[in-house]
Amino acid sequence: MNFKGYIKGILLLLLLILVSVPMVGKYKKLRLVDDNSFRGTAIGTNFSIIVSHTPLTNTEFEIWKREITLLVDQLDNSMSNYISDSEVSRLNSSPDIINFQPISEDLHTVVSASLEAYQETDGYFDITVSPLVDLWGFGPVPPDGVVPTDKEIKEILAHIGSNRLILTSQGIKKLDPKININVGAIAKGFLVDKVARFLLDKGCNNFMVEIGGEIVAKGVNKNGVTWRIGVETPDYKTEEAVYGVVELSDRGMATSGDYRRYLKDNGKVYSHIIDPKTGYPAQHSLASVTVIAENSMKADAYATALFVMGMEKGMAWVEKKEGVEAYFINRTADGGFVSKASSGFKIEAMNSSK
Ligand code: ADP
Ligand code: MG
Repeated sequence: MNFKGYIKGILLLLLLILVSVPMVGKYKKLRLVDDNSFRGTAIGTNFSIIVSHTPLTNTEFEIWKREITLLVDQLDNSMSNYISDSEVSRLNSSPDIINFQPISEDLHTVVSASLEAYQETDGYFDITVSPLVDLWGFGPVPPDGVVPTDKEIKEILAHIGSNRLILTSQGIKKLDPKININVGAIAKGFLVDKVARFLLDKGCNNFMVEIGGEIVAKGVNKNGVTWRIGVETPDYKTEEAVYGVVELSDRGMATSGDYRRYLKDNGKVYSHIIDPKTGYPAQHSLASVTVIAENSMKADAYATALFVMGMEKGMAWVEKKEGVEAYFINRTADGGFVSKASSGFKIEAMNSSK
């Protein structure tokens, strides 16, 4: 790569970092794969940053790379349920219901946004579903492939609810010792916003940051036009087929779906998104929902909640909610797809049936 001095003309920089499992595991090192792209070596979630119209020296680029790596590591060490001494894991294992437990500023931001989303979505977004996520085999313990019993679910459900968490400037207090949190449905969005802020602080105003489907786009791409982002076809089999294309500018976008992580038993598919009201995975014909909101963190939380609500309830919620738009893709009986956009969601469809 010709990073000697300043790069002439338009610079397109692609960093592709892979994190082993969404929100978990060790961050993998970046490596150069060609003239303008960098790629990590791991299975799981893609992390990519594309910067345009920003001349960078080789040294500057190396600094960015190191600092962004640090942001990812910090997030993991704070919010992963897979790292036993992360802040979240320590909070989860603490039986303390008397004291406020101090937490980092980042975790405070994420929990605060989570509690707000809990209120806004009438409890459909709920980070205290964590024990149910574990019970269904979507947590740190590898799944045993066995579907939980009604009794097991009911017992755990009795200890779920973000209204049993109190957050103040002193930290977080549990009102039930069994309360556990999993911020996996919002943390990726938070990290995307954080990387975006890092780039803005560096004076970069044209970029696209994506972590496992959660995106922020700012300014224009290398061709000088608004970023065009693909919405994936939510097919269990297909790898990254584009269903539609969205123009995204100064907004966050996130997708939740059941087509990447799920449990299959007797031909039945169980999604990794849990309905906090029933204790069961969200179950309906909705295959994915893509949300656009003021930032990626909000879009991430709303996408998860809307996935639980399903299209009908979800669409009614979106149309009432200021500044939020959504695109729902449902499965049809013949194995195809049918989609519906909220009134302000502009998408160029690439594939309307399958
Ligand atoms: P992805 O991680 O695939 O992008 P989401 O953002 O929707 O998808 O997050 C799903 C994860 O969030 C689950 O794996 C689980 O850890 C957690 N989760 C599941 N159901 C809920 C819910 N109703 N509210 C908040 N978090 C949830
Ligand atoms: Mg989410």
